[in-house]
Amino acid sequence: MDVRELVDQARQGRPRAVARLISLVENAAGSPARAGELREVMAELATGTRKPYAARVIGLTGSPGVGKSTATGMLIRAFRRRGVRVGVLAVDPSSPFTGGALLGDRVRMQDHATDPEVFIRSMSSRGHLGGLAWATPQALRVLDAAGCEVILIETVGVGQAEVDVARMADTTVVLLAPGMGDGVQAAKAGILEVADVFVVNKADRDGAQATVRELRTMAGLGEAPWRPPIVTTVAYKGEGADDLLAALDKHQAYLEESGEARRRRLARARDEIEAIALAQLRSRFAHLHGDRLDALAERLLGAATDPYAAADELIAALA
Ligand code: GDP
Repeated sequence: MDVRELVDQARQGRPRAVARLISLVENAAGSPARAGELREVMAELATGTRKPYAARVIGLTGSPGVGKSTATGMLIRAFRRRGVRVGVLAVDPSSPFTGGALLGDRVRMQDHATDPEVFIRSMSSRGHLGGLAWATPQALRVLDAAGCEVILIETVGVGQAEVDVARMADTTVVLLAPGMGDGVQAAKAGILEVADVFVVNKADRDGAQATVRELRTMAGLGEAPWRPPIVTTVAYKGEGADDLLAALDKHQAYLEESGEARRRRLARARDEIEAIALAQLRSRFAHLHGDRLDALAERLLGAATDPYAAADELIAALA
């Protein structure tokens, strides 16, 4: 099937075409040689009438086991009740969407397995081209073109990945759960800044209110035009779904009214271009640097050059 036909079918929301296009993104991430095909796809996608970044992107992050996948399932159901087409990207390799999880989770996801208005894909951040920061926006673009009005990105809350994903989302939801020890600790380590909405999940467990109080103390500090609300949920029972949805809608309204929505989308567009440019540079660099780098290293070892001069020489060879 040629690219135009594939893109046409994806636009019509054909699940198989959408899946193939996202696979193409993944394959290109693993093998720069295949990026040419993706380039064609992106050019074709750009010819559509739908505005890019039209979909509302909601990121969910938190430590393993807090209930991200369960909450994602709950949100899928909530948005489906509104009749909205939903895309889901799970960027945690150990997440249920990749089949690596508990049976219970898989059963729960099967609720949506036969729903043609729900696209669920997992993506790993492996690959040469700059990982998540490169691949995720392109997968988002595919889901966007496929007419998803809402895209949920689920990612495990560790390190740089969640910050990267937060930059791609309109709204970032940070999940915590009581009795996980590291809950609010993790929040201290940078999650506070990326959160637009906090969810204290597993509210059926002891300590949920303590977690809420702790969070309120921390999040209540400082002035901000948007104070992240704290929503409590019991995700596996669907409790709190309406509250969460209301918080998400409120944030969306804030984004639109304040002009922040456009600022975030501009930042996303910048990040996206930059990630592709850097990936191309990196790939050109890798192509060229083998022998030349060895030779420069020999010269550095022999005190025939200094590291800055050697780096300059390497960069000059790129031009
Ligand atoms: P993730 O690793 O963050 O995606 O977490 P999961 O969604 O896989 O959930 C981890 C475990 O917590 C699963 O066994 C869920 O059934 C369970 N779980 C999810 N939500 C709740 C909840 O609200 N209360 C309780 N007690 N357990 C929950």
